[in-house]
Amino acid sequence: MSSRRSGFAGNKAYLPSKPCAVCGRTMTWRKAWAKTWDEVRYCSERCRRQKHAPTSADGPAHG
Ligand SMILES: [Zn+2]
Repeated sequence: MSSRRSGFAGNKAYLPSKPCAVCGRTMTWRKAWAKTWDEVRYCSERCRRQKHAPTSADGPAHG
């Protein structure tokens, strides 16, 4: 097995980013968020829990 380093050249794809709804930290697109990037609003689970505001009419109840 020889190391194949070269290859991915000039692949500076634009990665979307947005600020966390809680701490405001800039979140950069992650592969893990590829499917839920549109729903991701918090940089981490911690922030997600921080903001537990009683929002009405916001989809199914999620406790
Ligand atoms: Zn955050």
